[in-house]
Order: sequence, then structure tokens, then C-alpha cells
Amino acid sequence: MVRAARVGVVGGSLGGLTAALLLRELGLDVTVYERSGTELQQRGAGIGLLPETYRYLVERADVDVDEISTSTAYVNYLDRDGRVIHELSQPYRFSNWNTIYRSLLRCFGRDRYLLNHDVTDIKQHDGMVQVTLADDNEVEVDLLVCADGIGSRARSRLLPEVTSAYAGYVAWRGVVPEKDLGREGDALRNAITYYVYANSHILVYPIPGLDGSVSPGDRLINFVWYRNYLAGSDLHDLMTDGDGKLHEISLPPGAARPEYVAELRAVAAARLPDLIANVVVSAKEPFVQTILDIEVTRMVFGRVCLIGDAAFAVRPHAAAGTAKAAEDAWELAKALEEQPDIDSALRIWEKGQMELGQELLERTRRIGRRSQVDCNWVAGDPELTFSLYPPGR
Ligand SMILES: Cc1cc2nc3c(=O)[nH]c(=O)nc-3n(C[C@H](O)[C@H](O)[C@H](O)COP(=O)(O)OP(=O)(O)OC[C@H]3O[C@@H](n4cnc5c(N)ncnc54)[C@H](O)[C@@H]3O)c2cc1C
Repeated sequence: MVRAARVGVVGGSLGGLTAALLLRELGLDVTVYERSGTELQQRGAGIGLLPETYRYLVERADVDVDEISTSTAYVNYLDRDGRVIHELSQPYRFSNWNTIYRSLLRCFGRDRYLLNHDVTDIKQHDGMVQVTLADDNEVEVDLLVCADGIGSRARSRLLPEVTSAYAGYVAWRGVVPEKDLGREGDALRNAITYYVYANSHILVYPIPGLDGSVSPGDRLINFVWYRNYLAGSDLHDLMTDGDGKLHEISLPPGAARPEYVAELRAVAAARLPDLIANVVVSAKEPFVQTILDIEVTRMVFGRVCLIGDAAFAVRPHAAAGTAKAAEDAWELAKALEEQPDIDSALRIWEKGQMELGQELLERTRRIGRRSQVDCNWVAGDPELTFSLYPPGR
């Protein structure tokens, strides 16, 4: 077992916090460096909540998963007239990003969770990692875990040749308070509801309210609508806000230009079943996330490793992004516990996590291709499960 090492974690979101908690439990001296000057806030809407994401909270912090998530019992596919054409009995959980973040941060505490610490450079010498911060301060650690997300600066320093690849489509997202949908929304409360049509699909499901409440009535209904935009000027125009600022990865609530929001609502009314169109049309500030693939060729560089989206960013169709980040953290802790030194632990860890990242990326690419390009995705497609590992594993 690795002992008495100083560990730095870059990025204090779900992946970074899970790693920090688990490594601290091994007795390591862990500090989290988070670029944001304030505690992180709700980003966007809901997340499909897989067991790997809530594992720490349930196994180590005694959190009741029902208090931090909503659940649904079915997966329903509708036809254009809103009839259920395929119903699968398949339970899933949903939460929102904020609820999970706050629960993990409460466990870690604020003492060694350093906000306003932007890591700008990483150097290594004699088995030590020297971390430079934006204020020019430097710290030295024995192991640096980079959980700095899809735009990872660590990755661009370590693997400058790796760039993100636009998938050809974006996710339009939004939420509506459950109570605003009235009786009409009843059919959406206990299922993930899909509608698949040419070169697109949309799904709708209930998530906790912004304050984390999971009581029926307080919850939100969340939609994720995958729509194709050509790379280049078509995408750039969508992602440019009213002030002319181009957003590369996401256009936050309120930033989409009115003409695009109007088009979204008009297409929803024209093309989607009424039940789902009503959710899209009622969402006050729909927002956009571009769908990107990122694939690294390595996750370990001496005493530095990349986890979560900093390594592989996968398409959201398996709802497994946060689960992958958490699993990277659990497996890292396991390797450090079982191996005699950091280098052997990282070597063993990298092999398994590279396989996981590549497999998940390939599966989500296939789902995306079938739905957005080839149009041969049928209702109830067995490969479309919300899971970190492929169905049946
Ligand atoms: C449309 C869409 C839907 C999704 N749905 C789901 C879902 O249903 N379920 C799911 O599990 N996942 C989902 N995801 C994916 C999920 O959001 C990500 O996989 C997850 O947030 C990755 O976590 P992370 O900790 O690796 O990185 P992030 O959450 O991106 O966190 C990175 C952190 O690093 C910090 N940081 C960045 N640079 C620096 C620096 N230089 N110094 C210090 N700190 C830094 C950032 O401020 C941030 O706090 C979805 C993604 C998209 C786009």
C-alpha cells in the first residue's frame, strides 16, 4: 500500500472530489485545487445517476440515495401521435449535478478544497510533480490527479496532439417545473420518454428541483434533444450569443439567441408528439451543449494522471460521464491500496481505465451514429442503456 504521499487533485467537480475523498481515506495527504473562485453552481440540467456516481455517498457517507435522486420505472418510446409504441420495465435514477456536488463537498470539507486555484503548469523532476498556479505560487506533490474536465489544460500540456472532435450534433436542454405541466405531464413522471425521428431524438425525464427536493410536485421535467448542426459556420452561428461571443462547449441558460429559441419551439411544435413538445415549448431558458469526443492515448505521465472527462469525454447517450469519472477514482484508490508504490499502481490502473474509456466512447459513438446519421435506431435498441459498462456485463 502506498503511504505518506502528498496528492494534488486538479479540479473539484464530481470526478476530482470522488478521487480526493477516496485517496484521503487511504491516509494520503490530499489537496484539491479548483479554478473557480466560488463553489461550483448547478451546471445545466439533470444527470442520469448511475451506481458508480453515488457509490461513495452510499457506501462511505451513509447517504440515502432516495433523498438525492428521483427514479423512474419504465423506458417508453412514443410515436408521432404520442402513443407508446415500446415500453420497457427498466428502473433508472436521476439527479442534478448540484445535489451530488454538494453532498460530496460536504463529505470532503472546505479546509483542503482550495477555490480560486487555477493550475497553469505542471513539471516533473526526480519523482516529484511541481504544480504552478495562476498567482505564480508553486506546490510540490508526489502524485497529481488531473480531473480538470473536457477542456483540460493538463491534457493539452501533456498530449498537445489530442483535440476534441465535434460529433456533428448538439444537445439542446431545458427544464420545466413538474407542476407547470399539470395533469398532462402525468405520463412523463415515471418513465424516461423517448421520441426518435429522422436524424434526431429527444428524451424527457424527471429530476430533483433546483433546491434538491425530490418530492413529486417540486421536481423538474428535463429534456435532452439531440439536433444536427454542420461543423463550421452553422454551428458557430448557433453557439454565438447575443453579444457576439462564441461559446465552444456550451451555451448557458439565457445565452441562446432568440431566433434559435423560437426555431427550437417551432420545430418542437411541428415535429414532436404533443406531450414532449409541450415540455420544450414551456422551458424558459433552453441551453446548448456541443457533443464532443475526446480520446487520449495515455492516462499516465510519470506521476501525473488524467481522470474523467480530462481523459475521455464520451457522448451522453449512456449517461455515464460522471460514472466514468467516479470509476476512474475508485480504481485508482484500489491500485494505490494494493500496490507497493505509486508507479506500479499507476501502471496497472492505466491499463484498465484506458480499456473502459475506449469501450464507452465506441459504444456511445455507435448509438449517436445510428440515431443522428444512419437513422436505423429502433425503439428499444438494446445497446441504448444508461450504464457504464455494455449491457449484459
Ligand atoms: C449534454 C450532456 C449530458 C450529460 N448527461 C450526463 C448524465 O446524464 N450522467 C452523467 O453521469 N454524465 C453526464 N454528462 C457528462 C458529465 O457532465 C461529465 O462527464 C462530468 O461532469 C465529468 O466530470 P469531471 O469531474 O471529469 O469534469 P468536470 O465536471 O468538467 O469538472 C472539471 C473541474 O475542473 C476545474 N478546472 C478546470 N481547469 C482547471 C484548472 N486549470 N485548475 C483548477 N481547476 C480546473 C473546473 O472548474 C471544474 O470544476 C453529460 C454531458 C453532456 C454534455
